Amino acid sequence: MVSRQIDEHAMTEADCVECGATVTLHDDYEIGEIVDCTTCGVELEVLDTEPPVLDRAPELEEDWGE
Ligand SMILES: [Zn+2]
Repeated sequence: MVSRQIDEHAMTEADCVECGATVTLHDDYEIGEIVDCTTCGVELEVLDTEPPVLDRAPELEEDWGE
């Protein structure tokens, strides 16, 4: 018997690391996916899925340093 109390119909949510707002993830999100915080607009990368962990997506730097 599976005893995990997870409602599979519930939306998955995680906290924005930038502003602390709740970010709603769709059902089939994957590790490495980039989602936008609808509150502050920062891009967040999914680092883990159970439970969902978000971190700031690496910004694309033009100068990689030579
Ligand atoms: Zn945010």
